[in-house]
Amino acid sequence: MLKEAIFIKLCPPVYRLLEYNRTHKASEVPQLPQGTEVKLLGWVAVKNLVGGVVFLRLRDGSGFIQLSGRRGSIPEEAWDEAAKATTESAVYAEGTVKEDRRAPFGKEVAITRFKVIAGAEPWPLRKSLLKSRSALYDLRHLSIRGLKTASMIKIRSELMRSVFDYFYDRGYVYIQTPILVGSAVEGGATLFSLKYFDETAYLSQSAQLYEEAAILSLDRVFILQPAFRAEKSKTARHLTEFWMIESELAFTELDELLTVEEELVHHMAEHVSLSCSRELDALGKKIVVPDPPFPKIDYEEALQIAERKGVRLEWGEDLGTEAERIVSQSFEKPVFVKGYPLSARSFYHMEDPHRKGVSLSADLLAGGVEIATGGQRIHEYEVLMKRVEEHGLDPERMKWYLDLRKYGMPPHSGFGLGVERALKWMLDLKHIRSASIFPRTTSRLYP
Ligand code: ATP
Ligand code: MG
Repeated sequence: MLKEAIFIKLCPPVYRLLEYNRTHKASEVPQLPQGTEVKLLGWVAVKNLVGGVVFLRLRDGSGFIQLSGRRGSIPEEAWDEAAKATTESAVYAEGTVKEDRRAPFGKEVAITRFKVIAGAEPWPLRKSLLKSRSALYDLRHLSIRGLKTASMIKIRSELMRSVFDYFYDRGYVYIQTPILVGSAVEGGATLFSLKYFDETAYLSQSAQLYEEAAILSLDRVFILQPAFRAEKSKTARHLTEFWMIESELAFTELDELLTVEEELVHHMAEHVSLSCSRELDALGKKIVVPDPPFPKIDYEEALQIAERKGVRLEWGEDLGTEAERIVSQSFEKPVFVKGYPLSARSFYHMEDPHRKGVSLSADLLAGGVEIATGGQRIHEYEVLMKRVEEHGLDPERMKWYLDLRKYGMPPHSGFGLGVERALKWMLDLKHIRSASIFPRTTSRLYP
């Protein structure tokens, strides 16, 4: 209580911002000529008082700029405010651009006016805390202010832009499908259920089924929205809420689909690499942009590669973590594994007419993990109905999806690519959670 009282006395909050208008962002200052008057808003990243001079590093989302002022040379009120500003306080500064070889970027701002807009208590993110990953994520609401995390968030933002650009430039229609759904797409084991009046509803695992309806109206569609999976196991590549890029294409067979996937992945990597050089530098990362075509191997070849490295799998099993890592790391570029057994696939996958028990589908492996699954969907009513029954699904709940096959459903294909998995691969992240601003995992619902 006492501490709070002192704090409020030191930093009375500013309720009106009218007189604190900014003229520039921090990142613009190094380009301005000496003598330019600037008004800045931001947060105090670092503060030092050295021999009657205050040095502040101002952070404002665009970058950083150094501010300085000497006691006695700047107005007393400005000195008092700057001297008392604590780390992470929100502040307003007016000043003059000055060349200074010692300053980062060679320029700084000589303070003429300074105001603390909102003060900050002692910053709880200490070096000792940083050693514990979990503690860091407990304080994620604060730790996202760090340069590395902020850079990651900006890279993700650019990745999202690249996805929209890719699809819009090629005439795809962006649709939004329900998050609250009545039945599973990817099997019941990872469904989140909730009470929906007198029924049970689920959080969507994938938009695919709705996209299949939409292509009959729009030909080619895509979505970019959250998907939910109640993954039971703790892994470095599963979130319970993640963002999916999904697309469905009418009149499209598997080979053409894989071309779309590899072009999209190339475009995403190229865009991020070209537009995020500062952020990549901050993370100490360099993106190797993979040029299409990507290698394409058969599931059986993948089994052999895994077996040579000591991981033996029976035909029919899903590759799993270890085999995916081994296969992926055997190639320099992302690699497609085609021809998965139907037994390892969801009910909607089409059987290869030339290979019994083999699906017309492919996983895209990159950076040691699966980043996308794509395939040709069953377009014939009878075939799909048989599969629905074999998988023990309720045809009544699937009625609308089956119905689509009665009204002009052509051969069609689609894929789902995880945004966080793509980032994990591109930036070689140890854990997928770093790709999310507020990750949701089996053990994390806060902040
Ligand atoms: P995995 O076998 O790795 O659990 P999956 O085959 O069950 O994934 P799909 O249904 O194929 O996943 O989903 C399409 C894409 O969505 C995946 O290739 C992956 O990029 C992403 N994805 C799926 N589940 C998750 C998850 N729990 N967390 C993050 N991304 C996921
Ligand atoms: Mg998959």
